[in-house]
Amino acid sequence: MDFGFRPDSFPSKALPRHSTSCDKNVDTLIVGTGIAGSALAFELEKRNASYIVCTEQDTALANTSSISFGHCRIPKQNELEETIRKSVLHLGDNEDRVRFIYSNAGSVKDFFSELGIRYKKRSFGIIPSGKERGGAKILRALQKNISAIETSAHLVHLSESNSVFRAIFRRKGTHFKVRAKKVVLATGGYAGHFAHTPAFRNHNLKIFEMVQLLGGLVVNNHCVFLHPFAFNRGREILTGNKVKLGQFVDNEGNLVFRKRTRHMLENNCYHECFDRLLAESNARRKQGHGIIFAFGNQAIPIMPAAHYTSGGIRTDQFGRVFGCNNLFAVGECAADGKRNGGRLPGYPFTAAIVQGKVLGERLSKK
Ligand SMILES: Cc1cc2nc3c(=O)[nH]c(=O)nc-3n(C[C@H](O)[C@H](O)[C@H](O)COP(=O)(O)OP(=O)(O)OC[C@H]3O[C@@H](n4cnc5c(N)ncnc54)[C@H](O)[C@@H]3O)c2cc1C
Repeated sequence: MDFGFRPDSFPSKALPRHSTSCDKNVDTLIVGTGIAGSALAFELEKRNASYIVCTEQDTALANTSSISFGHCRIPKQNELEETIRKSVLHLGDNEDRVRFIYSNAGSVKDFFSELGIRYKKRSFGIIPSGKERGGAKILRALQKNISAIETSAHLVHLSESNSVFRAIFRRKGTHFKVRAKKVVLATGGYAGHFAHTPAFRNHNLKIFEMVQLLGGLVVNNHCVFLHPFAFNRGREILTGNKVKLGQFVDNEGNLVFRKRTRHMLENNCYHECFDRLLAESNARRKQGHGIIFAFGNQAIPIMPAAHYTSGGIRTDQFGRVFGCNNLFAVGECAADGKRNGGRLPGYPFTAAIVQGKVLGERLSKK
């Protein structure tokens, strides 16, 4: 597919990691160092492309991607159509996009091998092995290979004129500019307890305004997906087999969920009934109860937490923002799905890795 990029007149070498806050010219500017931004930067770095990747945080590891498990969904060949059907019909996702992502999901294994990340199989895909959080492990491995990271760089303005983008970043009371032919927004959604979430959408709302001013579309901004079983202030969630090993009880030790719901929990089908889990546990909360997960001799207080957002910037499957030439949005800032049902678990990491590979290839072409 022709992306319509014109020959590069910008410097072809990546900027040094610890460059000062002076203005910069690059071919591709990436905003965000989560899985979406880092996976793409890694691909550009490998191709010796001219790029820079910025984060408003003091460290490139401070984002939602680092606190996630890094579980990547890879449908088996005989599950592919069913996975796509579920994503489209049940969750309202875009068929072209999910077909593209899941058909190429096998490349996630190559990506892990390339980075030397050992992984194990899980119910719907693969997850990094070892004690460290999967998301942090992947990001650390990626960022070791990325030389052009700018930290403490908060994007505050983005405009375009004569096919050149001009981005203004605020850094600790000063500002610097980046001129780029292509801009990739990888600014995330929101997840976890707001106070602990670097990618809290307040920031992103400004990003959305910038996109709209450039002629792009932002849709379904209200679609926030709540996970019913968060703890440790939303930094962690109960997942997988653990959920069926304990009981959810209220302050007085009464079982919280109805029999049918408990049956789904016991069968590890809790992702299919989040709405019901939230409704039943919130009914109990309204009566003044807390919800506790009793597991062996542990009692973990559970709260719903924002897990991810389905709405955001309208793009095609390659991340191209509709209506804006050479502007891209990848990862959670892009809209995928249109209902509160959200995405299938493990989709975000797979999507970021697959899109990173394809976009890296395309954006590095002169
Ligand atoms: C507890 C938990 C577990 C999860 N487990 C999984 C899992 O196992 N598998 C899976 O696929 N998904 C999982 N998810 C979802 C997944 O983590 C997210 O969808 C994904 O990390 C989003 O990645 P991202 O790169 O789009 O955004 P983020 O990781 O949120 O990164 C956004 C980046 O943009 C930067 N940024 C934002 N605004 C600006 C600005 N104005 N200027 C400069 N920089 C800016 C931020 O600093 C940050 O670097 C989990 C989520 C949670 C909360």
